[in-house]
Amino acid sequence: MPQCRSCQLHKTCTSFYGKVSTRGICKVCKGMQSKRYRTATEHAFLRSLYSGCKMRHTRGKHSGKLVDWAEFCDVYTSQNGVCAETGRTLTTSGRDQISPDRVNNSAGYESKNVRFVTWDVNNARGSMNIEDFRCMCHDVCHLPRVKSANQASVHRVVGAIISWMRFSSRYLCIVGS
Ligand SMILES: [Zn+2]
Repeated sequence: MPQCRSCQLHKTCTSFYGKVSTRGICKVCKGMQSKRYRTATEHAFLRSLYSGCKMRHTRGKHSGKLVDWAEFCDVYTSQNGVCAETGRTLTTSGRDQISPDRVNNSAGYESKNVRFVTWDVNNARGSMNIEDFRCMCHDVCHLPRVKSANQASVHRVVGAIISWMRFSSRYLCIVGS
């Protein structure tokens, strides 16, 4: 049985990924490795986000004290890796990447005023307050669209019925004559 280069245990072939020739680290060790990597990346990412907040907080000359690093991390952990507005999984790259958001935009990155959303949400919200942002999202979702997918399929069905009626009436005329 092949031996895992990480835990040194001899395991069956199905405990490894890939071909026999390239076996090295078992599935369990591989999983732990990628989790460690993910956590490390997330930590570094949060650290850089915190630096950005600190800079903007100082530049904005806010009267309140900057949220401390421990609370910043606690808030992130309490959200279980999901965006506070959309429930989407927060990532460290792309449009769903973690973005620190101020609950009250006129205050700085102070204690109780920081939460995490996706980059897209933060960008879309801009200087809007949360209530206005949600109202806008609601309006976007509920506006009747001229060419929604549903209406297009209704048109197709109606079109099919009309052509069937034309065809059958012509056929009946021929039969009747
Ligand atoms: Zn192993």
